Amino acid sequence: MPLHSELEPIFDDVLSRNPGEVEFHQAVHEVLESIGPAVDKHPEYADAKIIKRICEPERQIIFRVPWEDDAGEIHINRGFRVEFNSALGPYKGGLRFHPSVLLGTVKFLGFEQVFKNALTGLPIGGGKGGSDFDPKGCSDREVMRFCQSFMTELYRHIGEYTDVPAGDIGVGGREIGFLFGQYKRITNRYESGVLTGKGLSFGGAQVRREATGYGCTYFVDEMLKARGESFDGKDVVVSGSGNVAIYTIEKVHQLGGRVVACSDSSGYVRDEKGIDLTLLKEIKETRRERIGVYVDRRRDADYVSDRSIWEVPCQVAIPSATQNELTESDALMLVRNGCIAVGEGANMPTTPDGVRVLREAGVSFGPGKAANAGGVAASALEMQQNASRDSWTFQHSEERLRDIMQGIHARCYETADEYGIPGDYVAGANISGYARVAAAMLALGLV
Ligand code: GLU
Repeated sequence: MPLHSELEPIFDDVLSRNPGEVEFHQAVHEVLESIGPAVDKHPEYADAKIIKRICEPERQIIFRVPWEDDAGEIHINRGFRVEFNSALGPYKGGLRFHPSVLLGTVKFLGFEQVFKNALTGLPIGGGKGGSDFDPKGCSDREVMRFCQSFMTELYRHIGEYTDVPAGDIGVGGREIGFLFGQYKRITNRYESGVLTGKGLSFGGAQVRREATGYGCTYFVDEMLKARGESFDGKDVVVSGSGNVAIYTIEKVHQLGGRVVACSDSSGYVRDEKGIDLTLLKEIKETRRERIGVYVDRRRDADYVSDRSIWEVPCQVAIPSATQNELTESDALMLVRNGCIAVGEGANMPTTPDGVRVLREAGVSFGPGKAANAGGVAASALEMQQNASRDSWTFQHSEERLRDIMQGIHARCYETADEYGIPGDYVAGANISGYARVAAAMLALGLV
């Protein structure tokens, strides 16, 4: 889709000032493509150069992370924190530890996070960070040494009122524990609200671990309801088998659907009887093994390492692995097999061509910044509990999460309606996220 004439030069500028950062370009283009109608409605934002400002991070930090492995060998990784936008609150967003992480990766994630966080309706700005460190195959002590070295630089940039990191790919409860321990040691402050996704034994909140997956499932449930359907009796495919995928599978099963396949970077498993979640948790959360071992314990299940998981027939697909994992040809397979709803559990898992195919086929498509916002929303609830030195029950926390996800769905749905593009959750999410950030930026003056 061509960009609004006022947005074209802004995008050209993003391309020329951020060379080679293809994922960042993709994320910016996707938002600019949607917000054309909002540009016409608010000419005052153009005068204040709000969109151009939104595309430029407020601050970008890059640092060296030296650490020593168990054999005494020294490794040098690179650490990042991109503090993208603080108009709505302290920078908020996860840390990703994965060998593929480059500055452009962190910028795309930070940019998405700004709109996602705005959509939650909670007072959080957007940021993201991470490292090209690969925790796979590392011992606990190696991961600890890396986290301590990473925090030894990061601590000076973060704080409960400044920037509040959390987890993302490769960063879970174990890493957050090591990071928090080092922050506490360096600063001599038990500042619970500086990190979220903490363990329940040191200031964490109920339902944070489950929140991205549960939230995404609630969002898809709302999309299904909007078309007179439900999860009941539906076959569902969830890619990935990390934190998002595991708790998506749990909630889909609770709502009456059956998840028939999940994956990791080595391949996928198909289990027509429904993924055995106890077994999956044991493999991934406890033993940190590859997904292939699942079939050793479930004789009826198949393991496939050389084809796309999206070939598995389903009515609902929830891509929860990583960016650009669901391509145009995958989308065509899903449509051919009768898929009616796709909710993005990961950040930007569907390629632009994939999204086009799904939309043209009338598939309800929930973009990540809406569908997976439950994780960061629960982080904001964790900050709320930390600030008031409170701790809510699981049930209360889950109710709050469900209300927030229903609110996000309603905001996207109603915005799409208001702009004459009913059912377009991508436009609904981008326009309503943008409107909230832009209004705050205008009010704060030229900063
Ligand atoms: N990494 C998650 C996301 O992509 C969670 C961020 C957070 O909790 O701050 O939204």
